[in-house]
Amino acid sequence: MILVSACLLGDNCKYNGGNNYHQEIFDLLQEEEVVAVCPEELGDLLTPRIPAEIVGGDGTDVLNRQAKVINQEGEDVTSNFIIGANRVLTIVNQKGCQLAILKERSPSCGTKSIYDGTFSGTKQQGVGVTTAILEETGIKVYSEEDINQLKTII
Ligand code: SF4
Repeated sequence: MILVSACLLGDNCKYNGGNNYHQEIFDLLQEEEVVAVCPEELGDLLTPRIPAEIVGGDGTDVLNRQAKVINQEGEDVTSNFIIGANRVLTIVNQKGCQLAILKERSPSCGTKSIYDGTFSGTKQQGVGVTTAILEETGIKVYSEEDINQLKTII
């Protein structure tokens, strides 16, 4: 069972009501058992919603309460992101997922880089909150940008 960011498969769960449909990821998973999740919707945030970024660190720091997730209107949505990540973890444990493919640069789903909290489009190294909680429990997390590597292991 493979966990996937729902927006990569075309679900309109992105902050602006759109999606991040990725044809190659969709094609790769055609014959696989997948569970599609949106951690931010699972964290009780609405779609569309105000975009948010991690301020003061990355997803690991958020879990350690050393960084926050703040939306573009200055509201602290850290608890929503932590709740969403924990609900994803529950699903992963229930379904027995051992691999995840999540959307790069999202404050929830980023696997190698995220935005730096300034809402200026500036990226920094780091993981999203859901990626952090999954990696802590030993789940291997890839992004759509690892498509060539994924084609060799799926
Ligand atoms: S939280 Fe993840 S699944 Fe949901 S829209 Fe953002 S990148 Fe996609």
